[in-house]
Amino acid sequence: MKQQTRTVGIIGGGPSGLALASLLAMKGVDVTVFDDGRRPDLVVGESLVPAVVPVLRKLGLEEKVAAIGLVKPGVSFTMPGKERVNFNFNNVARCNLPTYAYNVPRPAFDRLLDDRATELGARRVRARARLERPAADRLALAPETLAHAPWLQGRQPDLLVDATGRSRLFARTMEIPSTAGPRKDVAHFAHFEGFEENEPRGQVVIGWLEKGWNWRIPLPGRVSVGVVMHRDEAARLGATPEERLENAIARDPILSKAGPDRHRITDVATYTNYQLISSRGYGPGWAMTGDAFGFVDPMLSPGLWLALHSAELLSEHLDDLHGYSRRMRRQLRAWMEMISHYYSGRIFAMYHKGTEYSRRYPHEFCRRIQSHFDVQVACMACGARTQSLYGRTALKVFSSQAVWGREAAALAIR
Ligand SMILES: Cc1cc2nc3c(=O)[nH]c(=O)nc-3n(C[C@H](O)[C@H](O)[C@H](O)COP(=O)(O)OP(=O)(O)OC[C@H]3O[C@@H](n4cnc5c(N)ncnc54)[C@H](O)[C@@H]3O)c2cc1C
Repeated sequence: MKQQTRTVGIIGGGPSGLALASLLAMKGVDVTVFDDGRRPDLVVGESLVPAVVPVLRKLGLEEKVAAIGLVKPGVSFTMPGKERVNFNFNNVARCNLPTYAYNVPRPAFDRLLDDRATELGARRVRARARLERPAADRLALAPETLAHAPWLQGRQPDLLVDATGRSRLFARTMEIPSTAGPRKDVAHFAHFEGFEENEPRGQVVIGWLEKGWNWRIPLPGRVSVGVVMHRDEAARLGATPEERLENAIARDPILSKAGPDRHRITDVATYTNYQLISSRGYGPGWAMTGDAFGFVDPMLSPGLWLALHSAELLSEHLDDLHGYSRRMRRQLRAWMEMISHYYSGRIFAMYHKGTEYSRRYPHEFCRRIQSHFDVQVACMACGARTQSLYGRTALKVFSSQAVWGREAAALAIR
């Protein structure tokens, strides 16, 4: 198909907007990125999944990301009274992905994306973009925003992209409804010194809490520690985010043991109401990417992957926005489903039982079944096969309530 879209205006200079800018600039599209520069020093999105690595390579950025981050070999889940469930990315070689990902300090990561987009010829405007709505279904840059980009000579770009993250500029301007996820969580997090190193080095640890869960993401010279819980539960822990985070750490035996001499070196950042998917992802002359389109949940760290993948998909479907939106929606639904198996405790019950059976019946057959499921789950949780019909059906059947009912309920994350 002949490319019709020659000029693109991207609103928002986070990972999705900047990756899209680079990918389009590589194709010779005239791109302008409008960003308001309101980036706090502490931003979530520090733990990546292996599927991000091929996109970083495509952008020519892997070496630079490796220099600012830490290699992440996998993720462990801890549960009181149970063995940890260790996911090692070695399994994802079977789905043709690198066997590692990275943990990154977000400001430095975003700067790399920004520099790369500029190097490739994307033009940047440092201003908060404003829009007009010339018709119910249409959007245009407001005159003062357009004036910030004189090279557009007063002409609207062929395509406008909403990459404004949770600001969801287009949805708010056009009053597009969204579907909220089932959880009503609040997350508080900060960077610390004095937490012991996770084993193996760079491994992310997700901890089960009596109510909610926590993360420990090792970064160069520090550890990012966050707690995620229902907002009523968070309120019970203290009046301020600082009190809540500190009390959540102090009350959890595993977390407090990991950081007996902890010392917080940043402010505490707070995020609320983030499970949200827009009911529309495109329209005539506009499309949404990254969090502006939808964000599922932080537990399995799909955010940056979805942000970069949406950029990749949109750059490939610039003149087929319907096809782009359909593919993105499928991704979001598949991740939502995958994550529900973790919150329900079924995946943990399945693992604990699988390990128990393999020990009790150390036959080749049991070993093979367990190894098969390890590979399936790893390939789904790393982004390569999240949508696989076989994987999704197998996971549904083998993790079903009927099989692990009571055990799963005990491991569910409330
Ligand atoms: C608690 C929590 C933990 C998370 N942890 C992880 C994790 O470990 N790993 C992971 O991969 N993901 C994680 N995420 C998700 C991840 O942070 C997001 O998915 C990712 O940042 C989305 O990128 P984006 O480019 O879509 O939006 P953003 O990164 O939000 O970028 C949007 C940009 O648009 C700009 N902007 C907004 N409005 C305007 C305007 N009107 N004009 C100009 N500019 C504007 C903003 O200033 C910003 O620069 C987490 C999310 C939450 C809530």
